[in-house]
Amino acid sequence: SYRKGGYHAVRVGDPFASGRYIAQRKLGWGQFSTVWLAYDTESSRYVALKIQKSAQQFAQAALHEIEVLCSIYEGDPSNSKFVVRLIDHFKHTGPNGQHLCMVLEFLGDSLLQLIRFNRYKGLELNKVREICKCVLIALDYLHRELGIIHTDLKPENILLFFTIDPAKDPIRSGLLTPILERPEGGTLNGGSTTNVIEKKLKRRARRAVANISGRRDPMGGEAPKPARCLDGIDMRCKVVDFGNACWADKRFADEIQTRQYRAPEVILQSGYSFSVDMWSFACIAFELATGDMMFAPKTGQGFSEDEDHLALTMELLGKMPRKIAVGGARSKDFFDRHGDLKRIRRLKYSPLDRMLVNKYKFSETDAREFVEFLSPLLDFSPEKRPTAQQCLQHPWLNLRSSGGQSNVDAGMNKLKI
Ligand code: ATP
Ligand code: MG
Ligand code: MG
Repeated sequence: SYRKGGYHAVRVGDPFASGRYIAQRKLGWGQFSTVWLAYDTESSRYVALKIQKSAQQFAQAALHEIEVLCSIYEGDPSNSKFVVRLIDHFKHTGPNGQHLCMVLEFLGDSLLQLIRFNRYKGLELNKVREICKCVLIALDYLHRELGIIHTDLKPENILLFFTIDPAKDPIRSGLLTPILERPEGGTLNGGSTTNVIEKKLKRRARRAVANISGRRDPMGGEAPKPARCLDGIDMRCKVVDFGNACWADKRFADEIQTRQYRAPEVILQSGYSFSVDMWSFACIAFELATGDMMFAPKTGQGFSEDEDHLALTMELLGKMPRKIAVGGARSKDFFDRHGDLKRIRRLKYSPLDRMLVNKYKFSETDAREFVEFLSPLLDFSPEKRPTAQQCLQHPWLNLRSSGGQSNVDAGMNKLKI
């Protein structure tokens, strides 16, 4: 994709916006862009530089994302709503064309990386609560104040930012240390890179760092250091990636959301609104607490991924009411007129609370309380799902579990160095 219309190849030390921003290292990438850590010579701060692919459709998508991010900023100038802040934007011309660039506040690893860092064991419930609160504040702001539906909420699109508790770690206190480090060394950022071009770029970047090390940290300040253990870290996160966001009264696409976080009404094409984000949110909360995806549908013999997905939701949440099952533009592809799946005839029901206890070794109390929080968000009827505002009032968010419970703590202990 590093060709005309595609990504812009960046080398460490490359200047952007007439030298205001200096590229430091690659933070991540998506279908539309690469994202680099850059040093802002004007504010003497690190920022994230999202460099869009140059072809027309990507430029259009970036303009849309900038428009959404601007309204997010205007509605919350003090930046207190756990949504990424747009600092600047500009065009950059390179060999592959003209790239729209977004300058965003620099955040840390994604929740997906956090789940991997924790070896798919599930996080301590108190940490899950902290993360849920941030995401709900963000969703309440987007939905109620701006009328925006994110439509692509998933662990990759929620990024951490840590602040260290001075009582626990006086030396590093106050530092923003958003990058996680594996216990055995090596950060998780970019850990899954297999692509040859990416590898080449990395090698080149390392050489460039050696050559122009004076540039790497122009102000001689402390570059963010990896966190080795989650102890004493106040965990917060922000929602990013507004490339697919839309206004509830101006929707663009019928097929929205990433597969595993997709709400049933989207599969059935019965129309959607803010509550699709609430469904994804519940899937994310489950994944944080257990380390496993809530729904991971697959194509099988004689049935599609969509049909498997619907079957999985019913196995966990009970049978879908007939009216809902047959009410979508695509219902006939999956359901007969009685509201039974056409190709997957026998469902293996396994209620959520039993699964948490049996498979994930939750205590009965933890399981019951967590399910009381989650299951209303997974109502098949979108209008019945609580709003983010209602969800913020839920008592589960203010419970405190004491230590010594379940598999969760056992997993955490292994990580302490
Ligand atoms: P997608 O294919 O999901 O639409 P995209 O091209 O729109 O991706 P983003 O999801 O915005 O790009 O960013 C890609 C990745 O870059 C993120 O998953 C994250 O790892 C990293 N990233 C994005 N924004 C930031 C930021 N503000 N601070 C640190 N890292 C970031
Ligand atoms: Mg993304
Ligand atoms: Mg995107």
